[in-house]
Amino acid sequence: MAFSLASLFGLKAPDTTPKTLAILKHRCPQNHRCPAVAACPVGALSQKGQKAPTVDRSICINCGKCSRYCFPKALVMKKA
Ligand code: SF4
Repeated sequence: MAFSLASLFGLKAPDTTPKTLAILKHRCPQNHRCPAVAACPVGALSQKGQKAPTVDRSICINCGKCSRYCFPKALVMKKA
């Protein structure tokens, strides 16, 4: 029977499943400058006009920072 130290104390073990960024364009109102573009630490996000941002997957490190800047939840981290 497997158990972790966290479960011994009634704590839930952290989910370490790798996640990747998904851009859900239908959730983006596409009427503003995306604040997540400037928040990306590696410059992986770009935006044309006020359209939904796009991600350069060769640069993105899947840190999830941008998802915390997107209030309509158009940028979300999903399990790979
Ligand atoms: S997940 Fe991180 S690296 Fe990737 S686009 Fe978002 S902020 Fe940038």
